[in-house]
Amino acid sequence: MAGTAGNYNTKSPGRGKSVATGEIPLYNRKNAKEAAETEAERYMREALALAREAALAGETPVGAVVVDAQGRIVGRGRNRTEEIDATCHAETEAIRDASAKLGWRLGGCCLVVTMEPCPMCAGAILNARLDAVYYGARDSRAGACGGVFNLFMEPLDRRVRVYGGILEAECRELLGDFFRQKRQA
Ligand code: ZN
Repeated sequence: MAGTAGNYNTKSPGRGKSVATGEIPLYNRKNAKEAAETEAERYMREALALAREAALAGETPVGAVVVDAQGRIVGRGRNRTEEIDATCHAETEAIRDASAKLGWRLGGCCLVVTMEPCPMCAGAILNARLDAVYYGARDSRAGACGGVFNLFMEPLDRRVRVYGGILEAECRELLGDFFRQKRQA
């Protein structure tokens, strides 16, 4: 399934790469958009597994992984808001995990997350210097990557590429199931 690559971030992200060409920097192959999307889906399945883990722990099911330029998963996170506090979203947890190994500068890495990042996480993505974000379900209530507004379209000094809709149906279904069960409980 194709994601809606490049719909939001139309400016050149620099270093000679352009979202307009469909280049998806999860790994270093060239001219392989189809393969890249499959690759993004593969990482999204890892993020979905973490989201399911969150659901089992009674947390809103969101999961995230950080992937380095070689395609290795270097950070994993899931929502821990109930367990810890409101800053412990899947994205911040995955960034923290990756930073423990690589230091706080995560340039060259991408973040793959099951739900569109909120303003806090979009800010963390910028501060961690991640290259790109791939998300599953759009969030029309709190999304900061196009759902409500797009932080990455602001004239900040860094560019982050944003690709939405990766395995969107699965990501959305997981969230829907969780809230349905919560309402029935
Ligand atoms: Zn967040």
